[in-house]
Amino acid sequence: MPMIVSVPKEAVAGEQRVALVPELVPKLMKASLDVVVQWGAGKSAGFLDAEFEGKGARLEGEVFGKADILLKVQPPTIDEIGRMKEDSFLISFLQPYSNATAIKALAARKITAFSMELMPRITRAQPMDALSAMSTIAGYKAVLIAASRLPKFFPLLMTAAGTITPARVFVIGAGVAGLQAIGTAKRLGAVVEAYDTRPAVREQVESLGAKFAELGLAAKDAEDRSGYAKAQSEEFYKKQQEMMFKYVAAADVVIPTALVPGQRAPILITEEMVRGMRPGSVILDLAAEQGGNCALTEPGRDIVKHGVIIIGPMNLPSTIPFQGSEMYARTVTSFLIHLLKNGTPHLDLDDELTRGPLVTHQGEIVHEVVKARL
Ligand code: NAD
Repeated sequence: MPMIVSVPKEAVAGEQRVALVPELVPKLMKASLDVVVQWGAGKSAGFLDAEFEGKGARLEGEVFGKADILLKVQPPTIDEIGRMKEDSFLISFLQPYSNATAIKALAARKITAFSMELMPRITRAQPMDALSAMSTIAGYKAVLIAASRLPKFFPLLMTAAGTITPARVFVIGAGVAGLQAIGTAKRLGAVVEAYDTRPAVREQVESLGAKFAELGLAAKDAEDRSGYAKAQSEEFYKKQQEMMFKYVAAADVVIPTALVPGQRAPILITEEMVRGMRPGSVILDLAAEQGGNCALTEPGRDIVKHGVIIIGPMNLPSTIPFQGSEMYARTVTSFLIHLLKNGTPHLDLDDELTRGPLVTHQGEIVHEVVKARL
Protein backbone atom coordinates (compact mmCIF):
# COMPACT_ATOMS: atom_id res chain seq x y z
CA MET A 1 0.00 0.00 0.00
CA PRO A 2 1.44 3.41 -0.89
CA MET A 3 1.85 5.87 1.95
CA ILE A 4 -0.71 8.66 2.14
CA VAL A 5 0.53 12.24 2.04
CA SER A 6 -2.21 14.63 3.13
CA VAL A 7 -2.73 18.35 2.91
CA PRO A 8 -5.32 20.00 5.17
CA LYS A 9 -7.04 23.33 4.89
CA GLU A 10 -5.15 25.69 7.21
CA ALA A 11 -7.20 26.51 10.30
CA VAL A 12 -5.32 29.54 11.67
CA ALA A 13 -7.26 32.78 11.16
CA GLY A 14 -5.88 34.84 8.27
CA GLU A 15 -3.78 32.02 6.81
CA GLN A 16 -4.54 31.79 3.13
CA ARG A 17 -1.72 29.58 1.92
CA VAL A 18 -1.79 25.83 1.37
CA ALA A 19 1.17 23.44 1.68
CA LEU A 20 0.75 21.78 -1.73
CA VAL A 21 -0.29 23.11 -5.15
CA PRO A 22 -1.77 21.04 -8.00
CA GLU A 23 1.35 21.17 -10.22
CA LEU A 24 3.31 19.23 -7.58
CA VAL A 25 0.81 16.38 -7.13
CA PRO A 26 2.29 14.29 -10.00
CA LYS A 27 5.76 14.67 -8.49
CA LEU A 28 4.59 13.09 -5.23
CA MET A 29 2.65 10.38 -7.06
CA LYS A 30 5.74 9.58 -9.07
CA ALA A 31 7.51 9.13 -5.74
CA SER A 32 4.95 6.36 -4.99
CA LEU A 33 2.75 8.39 -2.64
CA ASP A 34 -1.01 8.60 -2.54
CA VAL A 35 -2.00 12.30 -2.38
CA VAL A 36 -5.08 13.29 -0.35
CA VAL A 37 -6.14 16.94 -0.17
CA GLN A 38 -8.86 18.32 2.10
CA TRP A 39 -11.85 19.86 0.35
CA GLY A 40 -11.28 23.56 -0.19
CA ALA A 41 -7.67 23.41 1.08
CA GLY A 42 -6.35 25.57 -1.77
CA LYS A 43 -9.37 27.78 -2.31
CA SER A 44 -8.19 30.92 -0.52
CA ALA A 45 -4.86 30.70 -2.38
CA GLY A 46 -6.60 30.37 -5.75
CA PHE A 47 -6.24 26.57 -6.26
CA LEU A 48 -9.51 24.77 -6.79
CA ASP A 49 -10.38 21.22 -5.73
CA ALA A 50 -10.92 20.27 -9.38
CA GLU A 51 -7.34 21.26 -10.23
CA PHE A 52 -5.95 18.99 -7.50
CA GLU A 53 -8.23 16.20 -8.70
CA GLY A 54 -7.24 16.79 -12.30
CA LYS A 55 -3.61 16.16 -11.32
CA GLY A 56 -4.47 12.88 -9.56
CA ALA A 57 -5.10 13.86 -5.91
CA ARG A 58 -8.04 12.48 -3.93
CA LEU A 59 -10.25 15.03 -2.20
CA GLU A 60 -11.63 14.21 1.24
CA GLY A 61 -13.40 16.01 4.07
CA GLU A 62 -11.06 14.94 6.89
CA VAL A 63 -7.38 14.28 6.20
CA PHE A 64 -5.59 14.23 9.55
CA GLY A 65 -6.54 10.72 10.69
CA LYS A 66 -5.33 8.87 7.60
CA ALA A 67 -2.15 10.79 6.82
CA ASP A 68 1.12 8.91 7.01
CA ILE A 69 2.78 12.18 6.04
CA LEU A 70 1.09 15.53 6.71
CA LEU A 71 2.18 18.71 4.91
CA LYS A 72 1.19 22.00 6.57
CA VAL A 73 1.98 25.70 6.54
CA GLN A 74 1.10 26.77 10.11
CA PRO A 75 2.03 24.66 13.15
CA PRO A 76 -0.75 22.19 13.93
CA THR A 77 -3.08 23.08 16.79
CA ILE A 78 -3.35 20.75 19.78
CA ASP A 79 -6.69 19.58 18.42
CA GLU A 80 -5.11 18.79 15.04
CA ILE A 81 -2.23 16.92 16.69
CA GLY A 82 -4.80 14.87 18.58
CA ARG A 83 -6.35 13.86 15.26
CA MET A 84 -3.03 12.83 13.67
CA LYS A 85 -1.92 9.21 13.45
CA GLU A 86 0.70 8.05 15.91
CA ASP A 87 4.09 7.44 14.29
CA SER A 88 3.19 9.64 11.31
CA PHE A 89 5.40 12.34 9.75
CA LEU A 90 4.80 16.09 9.71
CA ILE A 91 6.54 18.75 7.62
CA SER A 92 5.49 22.30 8.51
CA PHE A 93 6.53 25.64 9.96
CA LEU A 94 6.53 24.87 13.69
CA GLN A 95 7.73 28.14 15.31
CA PRO A 96 10.07 25.82 17.21
CA TYR A 97 11.38 28.30 19.78
CA SER A 98 8.05 29.61 20.99
CA ASN A 99 5.65 26.75 20.56
CA ALA A 100 6.40 24.47 23.50
CA THR A 101 2.90 23.06 23.92
CA ALA A 102 2.57 21.85 20.34
CA ILE A 103 6.11 20.45 20.21
CA LYS A 104 5.59 18.49 23.42
CA ALA A 105 2.25 17.23 22.09
CA LEU A 106 3.92 16.11 18.82
CA ALA A 107 6.55 14.19 20.80
CA ALA A 108 3.89 12.64 23.05
CA ARG A 109 2.01 11.45 19.97
CA LYS A 110 5.25 9.94 18.59
CA ILE A 111 5.07 12.08 15.48
CA THR A 112 8.27 12.63 13.52
CA ALA A 113 8.05 16.38 12.96
CA PHE A 114 10.26 18.57 10.78
CA SER A 115 10.32 22.34 11.18
CA MET A 116 10.91 24.18 7.91
CA GLU A 117 12.36 27.14 9.86
CA LEU A 118 15.28 24.95 10.92
CA MET A 119 16.43 23.97 7.42
CA PRO A 120 20.21 24.50 7.31
CA ARG A 121 21.28 27.43 5.15
CA ILE A 122 23.60 25.36 2.96
CA THR A 123 23.79 25.30 -0.82
CA ARG A 124 22.35 21.77 -1.00
CA ALA A 125 19.29 22.94 0.95
CA GLN A 126 18.50 25.97 -1.21
CA PRO A 127 15.49 24.38 -2.96
CA MET A 128 14.11 23.58 0.52
CA ASP A 129 14.71 27.04 1.99
CA ALA A 130 11.16 28.02 2.93
CA LEU A 131 12.27 30.96 5.06
CA SER A 132 14.05 32.66 2.16
CA ALA A 133 11.06 32.05 -0.10
CA MET A 134 8.69 33.64 2.41
CA SER A 135 11.09 36.51 3.18
CA THR A 136 11.08 37.41 -0.52
CA ILE A 137 7.32 37.93 -0.28
CA ALA A 138 7.55 39.86 2.98
CA GLY A 139 10.19 42.25 1.63
CA TYR A 140 8.19 42.98 -1.51
CA LYS A 141 4.85 43.43 0.26
CA ALA A 142 6.37 45.62 3.00
CA VAL A 143 7.33 48.22 0.40
CA LEU A 144 3.91 48.15 -1.27
CA ILE A 145 2.14 48.67 2.07
CA ALA A 146 4.51 51.45 3.11
CA ALA A 147 4.17 53.17 -0.29
CA SER A 148 0.39 53.06 -0.10
CA ARG A 149 0.39 54.62 3.40
CA LEU A 150 2.99 57.31 2.74
CA PRO A 151 1.36 60.66 1.93
CA LYS A 152 3.96 61.13 -0.80
CA PHE A 153 4.99 59.67 -4.16
CA PHE A 154 7.91 57.25 -4.28
CA PRO A 155 9.42 58.31 -7.67
CA LEU A 156 10.90 61.53 -8.96
CA LEU A 157 8.30 63.11 -11.21
CA MET A 158 8.69 66.07 -13.55
CA THR A 159 5.24 67.48 -14.08
CA ALA A 160 3.75 70.74 -15.34
CA ALA A 161 2.69 71.25 -11.72
CA GLY A 162 6.27 71.06 -10.59
CA THR A 163 8.99 68.58 -9.80
CA ILE A 164 8.27 65.90 -7.23
CA THR A 165 11.31 64.76 -5.30
CA PRO A 166 11.64 61.02 -4.71
CA ALA A 167 10.85 59.41 -1.36
CA ARG A 168 13.74 58.29 0.83
CA VAL A 169 13.66 54.74 2.11
CA PHE A 170 15.99 53.37 4.79
CA VAL A 171 16.20 49.59 5.07
CA ILE A 172 17.79 48.16 8.23
CA GLY A 173 18.99 44.59 7.77
CA ALA A 174 19.76 43.51 4.23
CA GLY A 175 19.09 39.78 4.39
CA VAL A 176 16.65 38.11 2.04
CA ALA A 177 13.65 40.31 3.00
CA GLY A 178 15.73 43.49 3.20
CA LEU A 179 17.32 42.98 -0.22
CA GLN A 180 13.90 42.34 -1.74
CA ALA A 181 12.59 45.51 -0.07
CA ILE A 182 15.53 47.49 -1.46
CA GLY A 183 14.92 46.16 -4.99
CA THR A 184 11.18 46.85 -4.81
CA ALA A 185 11.63 50.38 -3.42
CA LYS A 186 14.22 51.13 -6.14
CA ARG A 187 11.83 49.89 -8.84
CA LEU A 188 9.19 52.27 -7.46
CA GLY A 189 11.71 55.08 -7.84
CA ALA A 190 12.69 55.81 -4.24
CA VAL A 191 16.17 56.80 -3.11
CA VAL A 192 17.26 53.88 -0.93
CA GLU A 193 19.83 53.54 1.83
CA ALA A 194 20.48 50.40 3.82
CA TYR A 195 22.55 49.09 6.71
CA ASP A 196 23.45 45.62 7.96
CA THR A 197 25.86 44.43 10.63
CA ARG A 198 27.25 41.84 8.22
CA PRO A 199 29.88 43.63 6.13
CA ALA A 200 29.53 41.08 3.32
CA VAL A 201 26.16 42.61 2.48
CA ARG A 202 27.51 45.98 1.30
CA GLU A 203 28.19 44.76 -2.22
CA GLN A 204 24.70 43.27 -2.56
CA VAL A 205 23.11 46.53 -1.38
CA GLU A 206 25.16 48.53 -3.86
CA SER A 207 24.46 46.15 -6.72
CA LEU A 208 20.76 46.94 -6.27
CA GLY A 209 21.48 50.64 -6.69
CA ALA A 210 21.10 51.53 -3.02
CA LYS A 211 23.64 53.28 -0.81
CA PHE A 212 25.19 51.43 2.12
CA ALA A 213 24.86 53.62 5.23
CA GLU A 214 28.24 54.45 6.76
CA LEU A 215 27.72 54.09 10.50
CA GLY A 216 31.40 53.65 11.33
CA LEU A 217 30.58 50.60 13.45
CA ALA A 218 32.47 47.34 13.43
CA ALA A 219 30.25 44.47 14.51
CA LYS A 220 32.10 41.78 16.42
CA ASP A 221 31.73 38.28 14.95
CA ALA A 222 29.05 39.68 12.64
CA GLU A 223 27.87 36.34 11.31
CA ASP A 224 27.84 32.65 12.13
CA ARG A 225 28.85 29.79 9.85
CA SER A 226 25.48 29.67 8.13
CA GLY A 227 25.46 33.36 7.24
CA TYR A 228 23.07 34.47 10.00
CA ALA A 229 23.75 37.57 12.07
CA LYS A 230 25.09 37.05 15.58
CA ALA A 231 23.69 39.04 18.50
CA GLN A 232 25.74 42.11 19.41
CA SER A 233 26.28 43.70 22.83
CA GLU A 234 23.84 46.23 24.34
CA GLU A 235 26.61 48.78 23.96
CA PHE A 236 26.81 48.06 20.22
CA TYR A 237 23.06 48.47 19.76
CA LYS A 238 23.14 51.76 21.67
CA LYS A 239 25.88 53.04 19.42
CA GLN A 240 24.01 51.79 16.37
CA GLN A 241 20.88 53.70 17.46
CA GLU A 242 22.94 56.88 17.86
CA MET A 243 24.63 56.49 14.49
CA MET A 244 21.35 55.70 12.70
CA PHE A 245 19.50 58.71 14.13
CA LYS A 246 20.16 60.95 11.15
CA TYR A 247 19.33 58.22 8.59
CA VAL A 248 16.02 57.49 10.28
CA ALA A 249 15.17 61.20 10.63
CA ALA A 250 15.89 61.84 6.95
CA ALA A 251 13.80 58.91 5.73
CA ASP A 252 10.17 59.00 4.62
CA VAL A 253 9.95 55.23 5.05
CA VAL A 254 12.00 53.03 7.36
CA ILE A 255 11.83 49.28 6.86
CA PRO A 256 13.65 47.46 9.66
CA THR A 257 14.13 43.72 9.05
CA ALA A 258 16.95 42.95 11.50
CA LEU A 259 16.75 39.52 13.09
CA VAL A 260 19.01 37.31 15.14
CA PRO A 261 17.79 33.70 14.87
CA GLY A 262 16.04 32.33 17.93
CA GLN A 263 16.09 35.66 19.79
CA ARG A 264 13.86 38.67 20.23
CA ALA A 265 14.61 41.17 17.46
CA PRO A 266 17.06 43.87 18.62
CA ILE A 267 15.59 47.32 19.34
CA LEU A 268 17.24 49.60 16.81
CA ILE A 269 14.73 52.48 16.62
CA THR A 270 13.96 54.16 19.95
CA GLU A 271 11.01 56.41 20.77
CA GLU A 272 13.36 59.39 20.58
CA MET A 273 14.30 58.40 17.02
CA VAL A 274 10.60 58.17 16.08
CA ARG A 275 10.12 61.68 17.50
CA GLY A 276 12.89 62.85 15.19
CA MET A 277 10.97 61.70 12.08
CA ARG A 278 8.66 63.93 10.05
CA PRO A 279 4.93 63.46 10.68
CA GLY A 280 3.39 61.21 8.05
CA SER A 281 6.57 59.13 7.75
CA VAL A 282 6.13 55.37 7.86
CA ILE A 283 7.92 52.64 9.79
CA LEU A 284 7.06 49.22 8.41
CA ASP A 285 8.55 46.88 11.00
CA LEU A 286 9.28 43.56 9.33
CA ALA A 287 10.70 42.25 12.60
CA ALA A 288 7.28 42.64 14.29
CA GLU A 289 6.74 38.89 14.57
CA GLN A 290 9.92 38.66 16.64
CA GLY A 291 8.92 41.63 18.83
CA GLY A 292 9.91 44.43 16.43
CA ASN A 293 13.02 46.52 15.75
CA CYS A 294 11.19 49.68 16.76
CA ALA A 295 10.50 50.19 20.46
CA LEU A 296 6.98 51.45 19.69
CA THR A 297 5.90 48.67 17.32
CA GLU A 298 2.81 46.80 18.39
CA PRO A 299 2.93 43.44 16.55
CA GLY A 300 -0.14 42.94 14.38
CA ARG A 301 -1.23 46.58 14.71
CA ASP A 302 -1.09 49.74 12.68
CA ILE A 303 -0.64 52.76 14.96
CA VAL A 304 0.34 56.44 14.83
CA LYS A 305 2.84 57.70 17.40
CA HIS A 306 4.34 61.20 17.35
CA GLY A 307 2.70 61.60 13.93
CA VAL A 308 4.60 58.59 12.52
CA ILE A 309 2.68 55.61 11.10
CA ILE A 310 4.10 52.44 12.66
CA ILE A 311 2.97 49.19 11.09
CA GLY A 312 3.82 45.81 12.62
CA PRO A 313 2.51 43.28 10.11
CA MET A 314 2.08 39.62 10.93
CA ASN A 315 2.23 36.88 8.33
CA LEU A 316 2.82 38.99 5.22
CA PRO A 317 3.57 35.89 3.09
CA SER A 318 -0.08 34.90 3.47
CA THR A 319 -1.11 38.13 1.73
CA ILE A 320 0.32 36.83 -1.57
CA PRO A 321 -1.14 33.36 -1.12
CA PHE A 322 -0.94 32.15 -4.73
CA GLN A 323 2.81 32.33 -5.12
CA GLY A 324 3.23 32.04 -1.35
CA SER A 325 1.73 28.57 -1.66
CA GLU A 326 3.63 27.70 -4.84
CA MET A 327 6.97 28.70 -3.36
CA TYR A 328 6.35 27.08 0.01
CA ALA A 329 4.98 23.90 -1.59
CA ARG A 330 8.11 23.58 -3.75
CA THR A 331 10.38 23.77 -0.70
CA VAL A 332 8.28 21.25 1.25
CA THR A 333 8.01 18.86 -1.71
CA SER A 334 11.75 19.00 -2.38
CA PHE A 335 12.40 18.19 1.27
CA LEU A 336 9.93 15.31 1.30
CA ILE A 337 11.43 13.83 -1.87
CA HIS A 338 14.84 14.13 -0.23
CA LEU A 339 13.60 12.04 2.71
CA LEU A 340 11.94 9.31 0.63
CA LYS A 341 13.40 5.95 -0.25
CA ASN A 342 11.07 3.58 -2.12
CA GLY A 343 8.02 5.66 -1.18
CA THR A 344 8.82 5.77 2.56
CA PRO A 345 10.62 8.45 4.59
CA HIS A 346 14.04 7.16 5.44
CA LEU A 347 15.81 9.05 8.19
CA ASP A 348 19.56 9.27 7.73
CA LEU A 349 20.41 11.07 10.96
CA ASP A 350 23.97 11.63 9.79
CA ASP A 351 22.63 13.81 6.98
CA GLU A 352 22.67 17.50 7.96
CA LEU A 353 19.67 18.10 5.76
CA THR A 354 17.54 15.52 7.53
CA ARG A 355 18.86 16.08 11.03
CA GLY A 356 18.76 19.93 10.92
CA PRO A 357 14.98 20.43 10.79
CA LEU A 358 14.09 17.30 12.79
CA VAL A 359 12.37 18.38 16.03
CA THR A 360 10.54 15.32 17.39
CA HIS A 361 11.17 11.63 16.70
CA GLN A 362 10.21 8.39 18.46
CA GLY A 363 8.51 10.21 21.31
CA GLU A 364 11.43 12.57 22.04
CA ILE A 365 12.31 16.19 21.31
CA VAL A 366 15.54 15.53 19.44
CA HIS A 367 16.60 19.03 18.36
CA GLU A 368 19.10 20.13 20.99
CA VAL A 369 18.54 23.90 20.72
CA VAL A 370 14.76 23.55 20.68
CA LYS A 371 14.92 21.18 23.66
CA ALA A 372 17.12 23.59 25.62
CA ARG A 373 14.78 26.53 24.88
CA LEU A 374 11.65 24.65 25.88
P1 NAD B 1 17.48 37.15 9.01
O1 NAD B 1 16.06 37.25 8.55
O2 NAD B 1 17.80 36.28 10.17
O3 NAD B 1 17.98 38.64 9.38
C1 NAD B 1 17.76 39.72 8.51
C2 NAD B 1 18.98 40.57 8.40
O4 NAD B 1 19.13 41.37 9.58
C3 NAD B 1 20.30 39.82 8.23
O5 NAD B 1 20.92 40.24 7.04
C4 NAD B 1 21.10 40.24 9.46
O6 NAD B 1 22.48 40.34 9.20
C5 NAD B 1 20.49 41.59 9.76
N1 NAD B 1 20.77 42.11 11.11
C6 NAD B 1 20.79 41.46 12.31
N2 NAD B 1 21.07 42.33 13.30
C7 NAD B 1 21.20 43.55 12.74
C8 NAD B 1 21.47 44.84 13.26
N3 NAD B 1 21.68 45.07 14.54
N4 NAD B 1 21.54 45.87 12.37
C9 NAD B 1 21.36 45.69 11.05
N5 NAD B 1 21.08 44.49 10.51
C10 NAD B 1 21.02 43.43 11.34
O7 NAD B 1 18.42 36.78 7.83
P2 NAD B 1 18.08 36.07 6.44
O8 NAD B 1 17.60 37.09 5.50
O9 NAD B 1 17.19 34.91 6.67
O10 NAD B 1 19.49 35.51 5.98
C11 NAD B 1 20.69 36.14 6.28
C12 NAD B 1 21.77 35.59 5.40
O11 NAD B 1 21.84 34.17 5.47
C13 NAD B 1 21.62 35.86 3.91
O12 NAD B 1 21.84 37.13 3.48
C14 NAD B 1 22.63 34.85 3.38
O13 NAD B 1 23.94 35.32 3.50
C15 NAD B 1 22.42 33.71 4.29
N6 NAD B 1 21.55 32.75 3.59
C16 NAD B 1 22.12 31.66 3.04
C17 NAD B 1 21.33 30.75 2.35
C18 NAD B 1 21.91 29.52 1.73
O14 NAD B 1 23.08 29.45 1.54
N7 NAD B 1 21.08 28.53 1.43
C19 NAD B 1 19.96 30.95 2.25
C20 NAD B 1 19.41 32.09 2.81
C21 NAD B 1 20.22 32.97 3.50
